[in-house]
Amino acid sequence: MHGKLMTNAERYRRHITVDNSCHGCDTMVEDIMHVLRDCPAARDVWNHVLQANAARRFFAMGFEDWVQENLSTTATMQQGTSSWNILFAIICWLLWKDRCNKVFNSRPGGSYFVLLEASRLYQDCVSLIHNGATRNCGRAGPNSRDVVKWQPPNPGRVKVNIDGAVRGAVKQASIGGVIRNDAGDWVFGFVRNIGACTALMAELWAAYDALIFVWERGFRSVDLKTDNKTMATILNMESSILSDNALVQRLRKLVLQQWDLSVRFIYREANMVADKLASLAQNRQGGCLVFDTPPPEVTQLITDDIGR
Ligand SMILES: [Zn+2]
Repeated sequence: MHGKLMTNAERYRRHITVDNSCHGCDTMVEDIMHVLRDCPAARDVWNHVLQANAARRFFAMGFEDWVQENLSTTATMQQGTSSWNILFAIICWLLWKDRCNKVFNSRPGGSYFVLLEASRLYQDCVSLIHNGATRNCGRAGPNSRDVVKWQPPNPGRVKVNIDGAVRGAVKQASIGGVIRNDAGDWVFGFVRNIGACTALMAELWAAYDALIFVWERGFRSVDLKTDNKTMATILNMESSILSDNALVQRLRKLVLQQWDLSVRFIYREANMVADKLASLAQNRQGGCLVFDTPPPEVTQLITDDIGR
């Protein structure tokens, strides 16, 4: 934040480029204030997290004051946000990172990506501060090391493992899910190719399909497991971020139905069958495919999970 970040304005000043405009909106000079606050993409992010009465001052301040004031205030700027300075720093960093992805990889995540990543990192930071650095971070995080291996659900419940796979430059996304009972036996599984989207949207679609399926099949005691911490945070309604997204709204409606549903984060090592199913659908065309018996590609993984 000492004028050292190589924005296009700075590169222009040093004669590294002849174009000092922003790659995002094309018309404005890309200085640091533009990247972190004034570019429409950045404004969009800030408007999601600022309280309405704080926005006018926030967008009017000069750069130095803006940085100093926001880094030193712990006041609540967003409902449920007790450490504004942490959220502020995280979002600034992610906006810069996203800008660099845009310039160097042509793969920007956009406002959604920034908000979701910010939500995840913020939750981690706050838990670390409150719970101490030696404990596992993230409220949706695992409580003990044994969850690294797949565990059957408690008696009478089913466990739903879901995953999304996003491959290649076009971000071809596919999803998969597996539903198993308390003996570790296969109840059913599904895969679907959903076209181009981000990893997080793929996860959200996997959760959506899975919850619809288990509800329609009459299961009411359900453990949903994902290896995507952001998604667990969103479904547990620990974040207001993305609450205006139509898919998130539909998911939250599903979560609030009359059932005993828990949504938890697990490590990828405990999610191998869903991981494999998601990748199986990568080259598959057409709609959702449901398996009432396990496809051969996952039988060994299932056996490994239950240790038979
Ligand atoms: Zn811009």
